[in-house]
Amino acid sequence: MMRFIRDHLRNRVKKNKVRAVRPGRAVWSCAIFVLVISPSFATAQTIDGLFAGLQKSFGAKNLEAYLSPFSPDIRDKERNIVQSSWDSWKMDQVIFRRANQGDDREGEPGRFFQVFYQNAYSALVEMWHVWFERTGAGWQISKKEVTGGTAAFYKLRIPSGRVERASRVEIRHEDILLVFQDCWVFYDNIPTLETGLVVIGKGRFRFSPSNATEQHQLELRYKTPFIEDRLESVYLRFNDSFFRSNITIEKAPAEKTPQLPAALVNMAYAIFSKCYASSFTIENSLTGELMSFVPQGDQVVFELDGDTKGNLAYVFSPFSEEEIHLIKRNPDRVINLYSPGQPAGNEKRMFISLSQKFDVRRCDLEVDFQPDKFYLSARARVAISAEIEALDSLNFNFNPELDILRVLDEDGRDLFYTQDKPRRLLYIYFLKPLDKGQEGTIEIYYRGRLEPAEPLADVLPAPQYNETILISEPRFDAYLYSQSASWYPAPADEDYFLASIRLSVPPDLFCVATGTLIELGKIDSIRRVVALDKVGNSLFHYETKFPVKYLSFIVGRFNRLANGGNQSLPAIQGFISTEIPSPKKELLEDARTIVANYERWFGPYPFDKLAIVQRLWKTGGGHSPASFVVLNEIPRGPNDPLPLNPKSPVDLSRVKDSFLAHEIAHQWWGQAVTWESYHDQWISEGLAQFAAVRHIRERLGEKTFAGILNRFSRWVERLSRFGPITLGSRLSYLSFEAYQAILYDKTTVVLQMLLDMLGEETFERGLKSFFEAYKFRPARTANFIRTMEGAAGRELKPFFQKWFDSHTLPEVHVAHEVVKSGEGFILKFRVNQTKDVFVFPLWVAWRENGKEVRRKLDIGEPTQEFEFRTDVAPKRIRINPDHFVPGIFND
Ligand SMILES: [Zn+2]
Repeated sequence: MMRFIRDHLRNRVKKNKVRAVRPGRAVWSCAIFVLVISPSFATAQTIDGLFAGLQKSFGAKNLEAYLSPFSPDIRDKERNIVQSSWDSWKMDQVIFRRANQGDDREGEPGRFFQVFYQNAYSALVEMWHVWFERTGAGWQISKKEVTGGTAAFYKLRIPSGRVERASRVEIRHEDILLVFQDCWVFYDNIPTLETGLVVIGKGRFRFSPSNATEQHQLELRYKTPFIEDRLESVYLRFNDSFFRSNITIEKAPAEKTPQLPAALVNMAYAIFSKCYASSFTIENSLTGELMSFVPQGDQVVFELDGDTKGNLAYVFSPFSEEEIHLIKRNPDRVINLYSPGQPAGNEKRMFISLSQKFDVRRCDLEVDFQPDKFYLSARARVAISAEIEALDSLNFNFNPELDILRVLDEDGRDLFYTQDKPRRLLYIYFLKPLDKGQEGTIEIYYRGRLEPAEPLADVLPAPQYNETILISEPRFDAYLYSQSASWYPAPADEDYFLASIRLSVPPDLFCVATGTLIELGKIDSIRRVVALDKVGNSLFHYETKFPVKYLSFIVGRFNRLANGGNQSLPAIQGFISTEIPSPKKELLEDARTIVANYERWFGPYPFDKLAIVQRLWKTGGGHSPASFVVLNEIPRGPNDPLPLNPKSPVDLSRVKDSFLAHEIAHQWWGQAVTWESYHDQWISEGLAQFAAVRHIRERLGEKTFAGILNRFSRWVERLSRFGPITLGSRLSYLSFEAYQAILYDKTTVVLQMLLDMLGEETFERGLKSFFEAYKFRPARTANFIRTMEGAAGRELKPFFQKWFDSHTLPEVHVAHEVVKSGEGFILKFRVNQTKDVFVFPLWVAWRENGKEVRRKLDIGEPTQEFEFRTDVAPKRIRINPDHFVPGIFND
C-alpha cells in the first residue's frame, strides 16, 4: 500500500513562513535539556565551550551574555534574531550540535552546526555556518550564515485544556462531508495556529467519489456507489487556513452547555494517542522525540470511527499523483484512490512528482550479515545529484527496524535526519543546500535485526506442486532480502542507479546478489580491522554494470550447477540448495532457451548475468530481482500425501517451464522496464505472463497454447467485474484471485488479441521499441499505447480504453446465414455489440469438405457485416471457437 500512500509529506517550510507564526502565550517548558556538546569543554577557551555558553545564556534569557561571543560587527543583527526567537517564537531553549565533531579539517573555512530551538509546543531546526577569530586566549564568532531553510516542528497534544461544546460542526472537503450535532470539540495545544481537532458526539459522514471506477469499487464492497455512516468521533489534521475555510463550528449557547464528563476527556486522549503517529509526524535525530509538522496546502487527514463501516481514513495529499485516498484501517487497505474531477483512464496523468528532487546515481553498500540472528550491520554510501535549485533534504525508503548510528556528508560532517516510521521514510537534511545539477554523497551507518520479508513485487505467487521435493526434516535457511525488506536506504520513488554490494557472511555460506560477482575472498585479520568473530568470513563483492531499481541478495548453502563449459552470453548460472536431493539437470538449458526467445521478441538481455537460485521454502512461488531469479520449492515429507491440483488463476504448474519462463521474463518486464504507478503494474506481471505463454506456445505447440488461453479467458469472465487492469495491485484488496485473473491473465489475453489484430511482425516491432525506449526507466500505460500506435500506424486508444480501463466485457450477438450464389455460396456474418463497443479480433471457424477454415473478423463498430465466398456449403459454423475473447457471445 505504501506505493499509493507516497504522501509526499513535506515538512520544510520557508523561513518567512516561520517568521509569520503569531506570537502565543508563554508556556512553561517541561522539555528535558539536552546538552549535546560535551560539558567538559565548557569554557570560552574552546569553540565547544563558546557554544555551551550560548546554550546557557539563551536558556537564562541573558541577552548580553548571549551576544558577547559574537564579534561587535554582527552583534546588532544577532540581537534582533535572538530577541525575536524569544518574543515572537517563544523559544526557551537552544541546542547546538557541531556537525563535524572531532574532525577539524585543514583549510575548511568555518564550521557547521545543527541548531535546535524549542519550547513546550514547538521546535525549529536551522543549519549554521560559522566563522571564528581568535581573541586573546579564546574565540569569537566573526560571521554566521543560516544555510538552507528552517524546519518547523510541533509537539502536538490533545486534549490541551481547550475544549468547547458545539451545537453543530461541519467539515467539508471535495467529495466528503462530515456533520456533528451536540458535540464536544477538543482543540490542540498549539497557541499560534490550529492544526488538530478531536470531535466527539453524534455525527454522520458521506463520501461520494466523483469517479466511475471508484464508485464501482464501493459498490463491490458496500453495494452503494458512496459511503454513508454514523460517527461517534473524528480526529482531524489540517493547516490553519483549511480550518478557517472548511470547518464551521457553531458554539452551543452557554445555557445549553452541560458539564464536560471526565470520561470524554479520556476518550479524546485515547483517540489522539491512537491516531497521532500515523500522519504528519516524524522522529528527529537530535532528541529522538516524535514531532509533528503542519500539513501544507490542502493536505488533510480525517480519521473516521464509523458505526458500521469501522475505522476509515480520508487523506488528501496534493503532492501525490492522485490526491484522494480513502483507507480502511487495521490492516490498512486502500479503498479509493483518485484525483477529484478527473475521469478514470490512462490519458489523464500528466503529473510530475514533487518528490523527484534528486537522482540517486550510485549506492555502495558494505554489509556484514549474521544469518543466525538476522543481524545486519552496514554502511551505505549514496551518491545523488540535485534536480532542483537549493536541494536541502533527501528522502529514502528505509526500514525503521534498523537503527541509524550516523549520517555523514562527504566531508564527514554529521547530518540531522528525521524518520517517518509508519511510512518507512528517512529524511536527511544537508548543512548547505545543493545547486541544481550539483552532486553530493552521504554515508549512513546502520545496524539491527531484520528478518527477511516476503517479496511483494515481481513475484509469481502460485504454488508449484508438481516439483514437490521429498524431505523429512527440511531446513529453510536460504534467506532472501529484497525490495520489501527496505534493508538499505533506497530511492523513495522509482529511480534506477548503479550499485555495489560487499557482503560478509559466515564462511560456509554463499551469496548471490544483484550484479556481477567480481571478487570473492576471505576476511583476514591483517588486511582489515574487523571484529575477531568476523575473521574467516567470506566476502562477496558484487558490482552492477547496468542500472537497477532495487538491490537484493540471498544467502544460503548452495551447490553450483555445472554449465558444461557454455560460454554464451549472458552468463547463466544455477545455484541449488544443498538439501535439494536431485537437482533438475536441464535447468540451465531451459533457462538458455527462454532467454534466447525473449531476446528475439523483446531485445537483448538487459543485465550482465542471470543466476537461477532454487531453494526450499515454506511458501511456493518465485521472485525475480535484477540479474537473478529465486525459485521456491515446497518440500513434502515422505508420508505426506500429494497435494491436490491447485485451482488458481495463474497456475500453470502442469505446463513445463511456465514458472521459470514467467520469472525470467521479469528481467525485461518489471526490472529493466518498470511501472510508474500502480495503474501500470501490468507492465511487470501482465507482460511476464504474456511472455511465458508465448514461450510455451513456441515450445509445446498450438494445442497447449489454446488450452491455456481458453482457461485464462474463463477466469477473466469469472472475475473481471472486480475492476480494470489499470487498477493494478488494488485489485488484490477485494479478491486475490481477481487480482491474478485480471492483472496476469486478462493482460495476457488482451495482448494476444492485440498481437492477432496487428500481426506478429508489427506487434513485435512495437514491443521491442517500447522496451528499448523505456529500458532502465519507469513506463506508463499511455507510453505503451503511444509506442504501439507508432508501430501500427493507427489509433489504438479505443482498444485500450475498453480492455484496460474498464471492468466490462463485450456482449455480442452474431448472426450468420449461408446463401447460394452462382456456383458457390456466401457465408454472411452480422456482428452486433449490444452493450459497450469493444475493439477486438473475432475468430470464426467452419468446415469445408471436412477441413477446418478459420477467419479473423476485425470488430470495432456497434454493428458490422462480413462475407466469405465458399465453393461448398460451410458446415459447423463456430464463433470465437477457442473462446479466446472473454465476454458473452450468442447467435
Ligand atoms: Zn510475476
